[in-house]
Amino acid sequence: MKRARRSALVVLAGALPALAAAQDRLSVGGVSAGPGETASGWLVVPDGVDPGTRIPVSVVHGARPGKVLALVAGTHGYEYTSIVALQRLLPQLDPKRMTGSVILVHMANPLTFYGRRIYYGPDGKNLNRVYPGKADGTVSDRIAYALTREVIDKATHLADLHCGDGNESLRPYSYWQVSGNREVDEASRQLVLAFGLDHVVVDRDRPKDPAASSYTSNTAILRGKPALTAESGGMGLTDEPSVRAQEAGALSLVAFLGIMDAPSIRVEHPVWYDRSEVLRATATGIWHPTVEKMQMVAAGALLGRLTDPFGKVLQEVRAPFAGEVLYVVGTPPVSEGEPLGFVGHIAEAEPQP
Ligand SMILES: [Zn+2]
Repeated sequence: MKRARRSALVVLAGALPALAAAQDRLSVGGVSAGPGETASGWLVVPDGVDPGTRIPVSVVHGARPGKVLALVAGTHGYEYTSIVALQRLLPQLDPKRMTGSVILVHMANPLTFYGRRIYYGPDGKNLNRVYPGKADGTVSDRIAYALTREVIDKATHLADLHCGDGNESLRPYSYWQVSGNREVDEASRQLVLAFGLDHVVVDRDRPKDPAASSYTSNTAILRGKPALTAESGGMGLTDEPSVRAQEAGALSLVAFLGIMDAPSIRVEHPVWYDRSEVLRATATGIWHPTVEKMQMVAAGALLGRLTDPFGKVLQEVRAPFAGEVLYVVGTPPVSEGEPLGFVGHIAEAEPQP
């Protein structure tokens, strides 16, 4: 009896450390960090019907368990501010001081970064419209699939970091997505406030089906994980204020989630846009904007003209309601269906879920 019990204990003692070690590591693809460690490497998206890619990832795994914040940069590879911000953030995260972990996706879409592509990957797809992705699709589908399984599924909170694309002149703002799940929506609102951008678009129109979540942040939210999308910068620039806003916002999230002491830039009373509309080209042509970002416009105000190559006006684009120009396309080429600008209506009162 006594002997039997002792041998059972020996077996347990032998199994426990291995079990604990398995639980304690945090791995994203082959990038694996033990408690108190940082690991950087590649999340490989294998070749399929077209060539794959490899996504640079850092896993900063706190000495003690806690929240797991995923920071995703470079979903659109011509949006550089977040990519630079995460390079700056990494050395500021000390896993030995951390309770919880941070997963940094330094560049979600390398093919669009090195290929200097706006909106679409080489397969013609917008990565931020194909989530949750699929293993047997083209490369954008496969990137989304890898990020859903390896990053979103392993995180408790997510921030998807964007700016105006290479052709978009944009004022900084965050999206607060209202999904209908009150608990997640309130937690997402707190994340948005913690990120610190003082203008917030309320978005109630994202898909509700987790199998067709389309967007990175929506994929997290429909899996019960609070998330935000932030926009700061644009036009292919890496200006200091735009990069700094992303870096400071990410650090502020780390502080808010109790992962590590860091400066908070939480905003208490942002400007909320309760209505917003993307204005799109009805034809392919040459764009001549007549407004700038952050300009206040009246309902019906002219935002710009789209012409054919000979100068004939194809479309006059007007504000659908009074509001602020959140972004406007700042370069001439435009294809039918693409965005020309984004107008937000300023809410009179703080929106509720
Ligand atoms: Zn983007």
